[in-house]
Amino acid sequence: MIYSIHPACALYPDMLEGEFYELLTSMQTHGFDSRFPVIVHGGMILDGRHREKAARAAGVEAVYHEWSPETEGDDPASFIARANCRRSLTPSQRAMVAQKLAAMLKGDKAVERAAKVVGVSPRAVYQAQAVQKASPEIAEQVRAGKTTVSAAARKVKSPPPPPPDEDQVIEDQTGRVVPESLEQLFCDGRLSHLCTKLTQAESDAKDLAVQKIGVRLNLQAIHAEILSAKRLVANAAPFAVCPYPHVPNQKCKACDDHGWLTELAWKAVPTEIKGAAK
Ligand SMILES: [Zn+2]
Repeated sequence: MIYSIHPACALYPDMLEGEFYELLTSMQTHGFDSRFPVIVHGGMILDGRHREKAARAAGVEAVYHEWSPETEGDDPASFIARANCRRSLTPSQRAMVAQKLAAMLKGDKAVERAAKVVGVSPRAVYQAQAVQKASPEIAEQVRAGKTTVSAAARKVKSPPPPPPDEDQVIEDQTGRVVPESLEQLFCDGRLSHLCTKLTQAESDAKDLAVQKIGVRLNLQAIHAEILSAKRLVANAAPFAVCPYPHVPNQKCKACDDHGWLTELAWKAVPTEIKGAAK
């Protein structure tokens, strides 16, 4: 069966030539790695188009797996976005992806939903839309990682994004409004993606143990270590906007003037300060 590429999958840039060559060489040597099947749905490829292409080129049989909402979650577009998170796209490249995804999504708040799926701020998606509309060439440069979406937006002199209404405002975990300068940081999904990868590593270890490849793998100890690694990652993520007043020439002791706190640091903030800034 010949599969076509799902439109949401085609939003993501092609793999670099060198990366594809590496994939191809590995397939010629080791065959198709069945742990990473090509995910298909309705006759279309959702994930693994490069693996499928490499398999064809190497003359090996690709392994296919039918997407299902039970095991892969919610909807094909979100699944594709998550699958592509493992590829190291910059926030600007992801904003360009979200801009196209927003055009495909139906219903209200398409930009906000697309921004959430891809892990960027809605503002970045509005900028991406403006750049795409004003200059497809500059949009291509952002896609290729040659410039940032905010620099490109300034270049095309786009009108400023619509005034922030309630939908567009980013809030931290405590419900405070995140200032514009910190939006990208609060929306960046890479730390939570790292947590997903750690979960995946644990399940890979279990697979190897089941296959008797790692009979001596101490799964209990691995579980404990991965759990602690996940906590370390979670504790590095921005949790709340710093509630302390910032005075010029005086470094904020809570946030070192970064403007934000981790969950642990937030927990140490006295209740009267927490309440005051809200
Ligand atoms: Zn501070």
